[in-house]
Amino acid sequence: MLGYSTQTPRQDHPICNSSHFRSSRVRRRIGVSLMGKVWFVGAGPGAPDLITVRGARLLGEAGAILYTGSLVAETVLEWASETCEIADSKSMDLEQVNAWLLDRAGRHETVVRLQTGDPTLYGVLAELARPLDAAGIPVGIVSGVSSAMASAAAAGECLTLPEITQTVIFTRLSERTRMPERESFASLAAHGCTLCIFLSIERIDAVVEQLIEAGWARTAPIVIVHKATWPGEELILRATLENVVEQCRAARIERQALILVSPALGARAQVAAQPSKLYDATFPRRFRPSRDNRGADVD
Ligand code: SAH
Repeated sequence: MLGYSTQTPRQDHPICNSSHFRSSRVRRRIGVSLMGKVWFVGAGPGAPDLITVRGARLLGEAGAILYTGSLVAETVLEWASETCEIADSKSMDLEQVNAWLLDRAGRHETVVRLQTGDPTLYGVLAELARPLDAAGIPVGIVSGVSSAMASAAAAGECLTLPEITQTVIFTRLSERTRMPERESFASLAAHGCTLCIFLSIERIDAVVEQLIEAGWARTAPIVIVHKATWPGEELILRATLENVVEQCRAARIERQALILVSPALGARAQVAAQPSKLYDATFPRRFRPSRDNRGADVD
């Protein structure tokens, strides 16, 4: 996997040949002579086969993997090689995680920071990438299946429905991480479109209160998915706004759950008010002329 001494800079690597890397100040600062690449890889929601093929390949190639033990299902690590150094960042602070990544990038060609779901959502990717960028260490990002998508799939729901809702908002309640003023939960909820609410199950009572204030009916359906796709641990709760708090309490769902609210919930059980134009026989598509207008090349 390494194929070269960790003491020898990789002359063939474009970064190692850059004047930035060759600057002794930079090399001294990070204390390394080899420079690997750090990959931020989305682990997906939990099931080991829901990581991307690219993500699994990188786990297999990695000399070192740092994962978030409290969030990433350990089963995903089955893609790692036996010789790989695997560490849990659960008890590390940001500075320690940064130091770990910088250090391992000096010793391994491929280093993976494994994050839950998709790494670009609700993580600290920018904070972790900044010191690597400053040191001239190449960084790559590999998408993952977000828990928002996995929760909808686990519950058998659609996030959009023709004519009913065509917009999905990913959001959270403001807690320790303050929300920008223009993105208050109440103002987003007032759109009446699909909401995928992260990091807020601990405050489900406040979520319900604000949804009702924003105009949602007390009888509106709500779906809570706890540990979507985690082998043997997934739990799906279907409720209404007026009884969801009680149901969450009874089911002891206190963390790692996604809250789905949408006028599209339960659509499969209803007769479609408006069939989708996409498959409407009278609606012309580029590769399928309409019945009344066959042969026309319509975009
Ligand atoms: N980047 C992640 C989100 C990380 S923030 C993603 O794309 O999914 C952590 C929050 O994500 C949790 O509080 C919870 O709301 C949600 N979450 C993560 N994994 C989950 C899972 N398997 N099932 C349900 N919700 C999950």
